Amino acid sequence: MTEERIRSFDNLMSEVISAGICGKCGGCVSVCSANMIRALKLDENGFPTYAEKDRCLECGLCYIICPQTHCVRDEVRARFKWEPPIGYYSDVISAQSTDREILDVATDGGVVTALLVHMLESGFIDGAVVSISRDGFGREPSVAVTREELISAAGSHFGELPHLEELGDRYTNYVSAVRYATRAAPRKLNRLAVVGTPCQITAIRNMQALAMMPSDIMTFTIGLFCMQCFDLRKLLEKDFLSRRNISLDDILGMNIKDEFILTLQSGINVRIPMREIEEIARPACLKCQDFANDFADISVGGLGSPDKHTTVMIRTLKGKMMIADALAGGLIRKTGEGSSEKAGPGHSGMVSLVKEFAERKKARGARYRSTPGGKND
Ligand SMILES: Cc1cc2nc3c(=O)[nH]c(=O)nc-3n(C[C@H](O)[C@H](O)[C@H](O)COP(=O)(O)OP(=O)(O)OC[C@H]3O[C@@H](n4cnc5c(N)ncnc54)[C@H](O)[C@@H]3O)c2cc1C
Ligand code: SF4
Ligand code: SF4
Ligand code: SF4
Repeated sequence: MTEERIRSFDNLMSEVISAGICGKCGGCVSVCSANMIRALKLDENGFPTYAEKDRCLECGLCYIICPQTHCVRDEVRARFKWEPPIGYYSDVISAQSTDREILDVATDGGVVTALLVHMLESGFIDGAVVSISRDGFGREPSVAVTREELISAAGSHFGELPHLEELGDRYTNYVSAVRYATRAAPRKLNRLAVVGTPCQITAIRNMQALAMMPSDIMTFTIGLFCMQCFDLRKLLEKDFLSRRNISLDDILGMNIKDEFILTLQSGINVRIPMREIEEIARPACLKCQDFANDFADISVGGLGSPDKHTTVMIRTLKGKMMIADALAGGLIRKTGEGSSEKAGPGHSGMVSLVKEFAERKKARGARYRSTPGGKND
């Protein structure tokens, strides 16, 4: 009988990072830090690396929770009643925040921010891991604990965010529940919502399947649909904008739905087909095959809904209760069942579009994975 060797960070380096499929979710660093081992850190490009190799216990936790190793995929799929191609969902709605302040700054219908504010104000969460603006279009992860902080984090920009590393850093100081309680209790951050891309939410679900810190405090997950991330520097380096006669200063906002949409200061929306933004994607995103955030409590995107509306896939009982509560309280309103031009009318049109994009991303991922080379940036 052959004994299965525990795989450690060395294996992550060869099988994931060097193979160009590391999405920089930060999960490995977060788990190692939260368990007080601290063998890992993120390098200047956001990739995990050894902080102190001697500290590595070869425990294998980082390898197991990595969304690219699929070690606990079957357990997570079973837990979330997963079925292809977009996972289990009990309902899909198109909705909008009823708060003008939120709607004005939101990427789509502001459902994410409205729900986070509601959960915070009703005491369901103590805060939320979101991303805040930095240097114009740049973003950085942050834990928002007030309505104002949540609203200032609304909107989407498409940089790279090691959310889970941020959490790990915040929670590296505890090893036991008692120690954790004494340190975290004064800040009242025992229950957090996390907004994340599929790679980040999968890492959290992998940790939760194994009851690993710091996932115990991640009470609610809002999963963004995700076709790709990109580094804004690539917009400039690759002349992506200048070829379209746009300068960075012209851009007011960005959004990804069925197309990449640049909103200019003049009010004009420039729509760029998905295929054309592959050139600025991170290599790992081109190999990624997850679109619909299959394991979140709710998954959200603009795809399938008209402008300034959010498509919401309700997946878990917790997700269902939160949405029902927000609807009943008048914080969000249901605005039909997918009436965008592309989706066609009705619930089934919206679902078909999400399935179509999920299949497209899968096929793209398979195509890039079979291409030789394609190392990480
Ligand atoms: C990288 C990325 C790719 C996406 N790709 C698609 C796509 O292909 N198709 C599609 O339909 N929708 C996509 N979305 C989702 C879409 O852009 C909206 O975020 C979503 O519809 C929610 O809109 P809202 O108005 O309800 O959210 P808002 O109320 O505006 O709140 C958005 C929340 O997301 C947080 N956030 C912003 N950027 C990030 C980030 N990089 N990582 C984690 N959290 C973040 C903000 O802090 C805020 O809390 C993508 C989002 C991101 C960040
Ligand atoms: S100690 Fe464990 S979690 Fe940390 S790097 Fe080593 S194998 Fe990974
Ligand atoms: S995908 Fe996430 S968990 Fe896996 S190696 Fe990269 S940062 Fe670590
Ligand atoms: S495409 Fe989205 S889910 Fe996939 S690695 Fe990139 S950011 Fe993560």
